Amino acid sequence: MIKEIALGVVAALFIVFLWQGINVAPLLFLAGMSALLYFLLQTRSGFNSKNFSLVNNDKAHNLVKFEQIGGQETAKKELLEALDFIRYPHKVAKMGIRPLKGILLVGPPGTGKTLLAKAAATYTDSVFLAASGSEFIEMYAGVGAQRIRQIFAQAKNLARKENKKSAIIFIDEIEILGGKRGTHLSHHEYDQTLNQLLVEMDGMSTDKGVRTLVIGATNRADLLDNALVRPGRFDRIVQVDLPDVVARKEILKLHVANKPLDANVDLDQLARETFGFSGAHLESVANEAAILAMRERQERITQKHFHDAIEKVMMGEKLERKPDKAELWRVAVHEIGHALASERVRPGSVSNVTTTPRGKALGYMRQSPENDSYLYTQQYLEGQIFVMVAGAAAEEIILGNRSTGACNDFEQAVKVAKQMLAAGMSALGTVSLEDLPKSLLHREIQQIIARQQANAEEYLSRKHNLIVELAEILMHEERISGEFIRTRLQEEQKCAG
Ligand code: ATP
Repeated sequence: MIKEIALGVVAALFIVFLWQGINVAPLLFLAGMSALLYFLLQTRSGFNSKNFSLVNNDKAHNLVKFEQIGGQETAKKELLEALDFIRYPHKVAKMGIRPLKGILLVGPPGTGKTLLAKAAATYTDSVFLAASGSEFIEMYAGVGAQRIRQIFAQAKNLARKENKKSAIIFIDEIEILGGKRGTHLSHHEYDQTLNQLLVEMDGMSTDKGVRTLVIGATNRADLLDNALVRPGRFDRIVQVDLPDVVARKEILKLHVANKPLDANVDLDQLARETFGFSGAHLESVANEAAILAMRERQERITQKHFHDAIEKVMMGEKLERKPDKAELWRVAVHEIGHALASERVRPGSVSNVTTTPRGKALGYMRQSPENDSYLYTQQYLEGQIFVMVAGAAAEEIILGNRSTGACNDFEQAVKVAKQMLAAGMSALGTVSLEDLPKSLLHREIQQIIARQQANAEEYLSRKHNLIVELAEILMHEERISGEFIRTRLQEEQKCAG
């Protein structure tokens, strides 16, 4: 309003000057320069350029409650405990406990950190402001610090406006602005931003009106500056891990609650099959299954839709491209190699084999679920490498050479071999991978993999005819079941016996 009146007055003055015959060119020049200067200052300070996503109490975050977050029991428990500091400030003050200022949620992407922060705001009836670490960093020095001041002020103002007693500021990817000081190239800007955050957090307890809590989320807590994680700043570090089998079932249950399911859908089995999936992956599985059912004009989502959805989330969308016959033959041989090796180390483990191209893979062998394990023995890891290199071994035996199709298998095999070295399972004994000369590390990895390659070639060369037979069937059928492979293996063993 004031801006409009001022503009009106200036315009009127110009008209009067013109009327009086006064030369207004210098004034016009001066006004133009002032406008330009004003614009530059505005952009630099970031006043207009950023609006942090405000999710206040009316719609969005109020929809998220702790009950709608599957699993994460430990994280929820720790968070709830910390939030009681906000909910019951008098109790806390009576005990002489200093209020919590920050909670750090640490975990891989898609595990529900944002959901937990939103649920925290609902639980404490707070206003909720969300921003990502990258939103604070710009090329102009001082902008980040300005934005930090802005978000803290915004949180307080909003809480007062909404008559709330508390505000939660959620900063995702906090490692971007809270990284160790002095490590960035343009470190002055980064350091200033982090310093401002520390200043704001230190000043939080002096504001009696609105209690503010900062929730930070990261999957790289190791990158954070020590000053940020010291007591009195981010007092609590809550681990938000990938869900285990029970949590996966719970998350799936939450995401299928609004979907029409066929009676054959078995969530226990789906939970077992999705080891390593995050909450976001599971949400995507439920969604993709519903899309597949709709594409087929089915009224209900079946177990098969879920299986296809898991494959899609794991490997990517089915590709239209059809490889030529020679390529298809190679893919079939390669996948049968993996499948026979998998049955060798873990009988009953193959779920199915297919030559349908998906994502980056031209075909793949899927193993049936194992129990969630977090510890692996040397024998298990060697078995894994044996299965990984068996695709290339089958190509070598049947086609006389290898192809680039095995690149990903070898990358995985190297990872597992490194894991073995780190766990002291190699001939080198207990070693520190960082201190090991590169050439020695390389030689040891090569030896571990070469042993399994020799084992795979030895085993598969005894299965020459079976590989050819199964690969021919796979080429024509596009998919064969683990059951079929097991039957043929048994028959072959009987004949050999
Ligand atoms: P990022 O680190 O990538 O920001 P995040 O850990 O913050 O990820 P969210 O954004 O909270 O993850 O989760 C993404 C989506 O995944 C949610 O909207 C929800 O649909 C689903 N999801 C994740 N975890 C859970 C869970 N524990 N229960 C139910 N749904 C979940």
